[in-house]
Amino acid sequence: LPQTQTSETHVFVSKLPTIPISNHLPLHTYCFENLSQYPDRTCLLVGSTGKSYSFAETHLVCRRVAAGLSNLGIRKGDVVMALLQNCAEFVFTFMGASMIGAVTTTANPFCTTKEIFKQFNASKSKIIITQSQYVDKLRDPGDSSLVFGEDFSVITIDNPPEGCLHFSVLSEANEDEAPEVEIDPDDAVALPFSSGTTGLPKGVILTHKSLITSVAQQVDGENPNLYLKPDDVVLCVLPLFHIYSLNSVLLCSLRAGAPVLLMQKFEIGSLLELIQRHRVSVAAVVPPLVLALAKNPLVDNFDLSSIRMVLSGAAPLGKELEAALLSRVPQAVFGQGYGMTEAGPVLSMSPAFAKQPLPTKSGSCGNVVRNAELKVVDSETGCSLPRNHPGEICIRGPQIMKGYLNDAEATARTIDVDGWLHTGDIGYVDDDDDVFIVDRVKELIKFKGFQVPPAELEALLISHPNIADAAVVPQKDEAAGEVPVAFVVRSNGFELTEEAVKEFISKQVVFYKRLHKVYFVHAIPKSPAGKILRKDLRAKLAAPPPPS
Ligand code: AMP
Repeated sequence: LPQTQTSETHVFVSKLPTIPISNHLPLHTYCFENLSQYPDRTCLLVGSTGKSYSFAETHLVCRRVAAGLSNLGIRKGDVVMALLQNCAEFVFTFMGASMIGAVTTTANPFCTTKEIFKQFNASKSKIIITQSQYVDKLRDPGDSSLVFGEDFSVITIDNPPEGCLHFSVLSEANEDEAPEVEIDPDDAVALPFSSGTTGLPKGVILTHKSLITSVAQQVDGENPNLYLKPDDVVLCVLPLFHIYSLNSVLLCSLRAGAPVLLMQKFEIGSLLELIQRHRVSVAAVVPPLVLALAKNPLVDNFDLSSIRMVLSGAAPLGKELEAALLSRVPQAVFGQGYGMTEAGPVLSMSPAFAKQPLPTKSGSCGNVVRNAELKVVDSETGCSLPRNHPGEICIRGPQIMKGYLNDAEATARTIDVDGWLHTGDIGYVDDDDDVFIVDRVKELIKFKGFQVPPAELEALLISHPNIADAAVVPQKDEAAGEVPVAFVVRSNGFELTEEAVKEFISKQVVFYKRLHKVYFVHAIPKSPAGKILRKDLRAKLAAPPPPS
């Protein structure tokens, strides 16, 4: 590259015009801003029960929950943990908390006690809203008391076990008692956890401004990039505790006035049945779900002709799979979105979803969203790269996170002094502004779109008395995309089997963080500075086995 290249010589922006964004508002006001035009339209439809809530009812229950949270002592800036599968109460909790300036930390109910406790502690949650089946995870197995301390409440959306309150203390509160709270655009509203480019999971501070900007980049303007119509039915099967579903499915639909079909958890038979029964028109999915829709023989028994749009994100998707899916839903437009929790999360989206659609290329993640800047940098020199040159993707705009909770160092490593968020993804922008992701330089492993932070598993492995050192890297897998595998150095003279190591880990982590293979080695390759040379280990996995 010529010597004159700087870190901002090549910056890419959307082909769609910049739009005014109301990101001075609080998030709930913005999402329900047009409510008076369609109060009776269905807003939420609960797949398992068929119960539905109109936009006016949804807004009312959110206000009641705001009052209820306030009655329980939740104040501006306090954190509420939503430990829930997809359900209407998730929406009421998230929006109700927003209305009183509180922050929701979204947690995966399949996590183990230890994992939930870490998030609870780090976020300093004051209250947990959950389902009765998960309350045992909050108790000490020894004496059945709540392990997370005295000073917090547990609320269940179904029959409350002893010591817990029922959700009706929130949803039946008097909406007029919700306090008026001044909300600054830079106040936090959501606190999902992500390991980012390195290390352990950290709280990602997403403000009212960041989420409004991100939603507006998708659904606002004369020609929205993600065009959702009032008569759409938007499928919400991806977990709302992940920002992809929370933002691109729930918040975007609320803002656009499109009904959302909530499905508690993924099961192919009931998913297909719900799509057929409710005439789902927009489906946000992840690659393993694309695989199921493309390959499962059950699909032939259902009518999927209502689907007009399929959006895939959260992990790379192969062209073959895309083609296989389209042969099953030939009437649908297919495209990808590319996101990262810290980026609010959407960086780019297929232009085929716009109101005035443009063609999208197979394998591409679409174009950078509007009102944002994207560049590709050479990690060695820091120079921005021209089109068709792969490098690290960086994004800048009001939608990115404010930073990591209580972790200035990790924040500074991720967002540079010029405001660019470094993704740890390797990609390029082609001649037509299409973004392609080709590799990941960060440690993160993605199992079916779920985050598996190697540092977390490595810390657990080396806590084992018979393990001297360990490293965890991704191995390619057809169904899951990637699975975590470990390289382990046994402590001198100790016996240790692969099964024992796998079991040691699986007892402590959620299912998608389980190790799929353990390789015993004499040493973990490291740089002179002591950093694990993950690339070398990944190369080892990719190499063909030695001839026997
Ligand atoms: P998360 O923060 O859990 O959303 O994970 C973000 C990471 O998922 C990104 O940094 C990428 O590595 C990966 N990712 C998300 N969307 C895509 C996509 N469409 N194609 C390839 N990788 C993706």
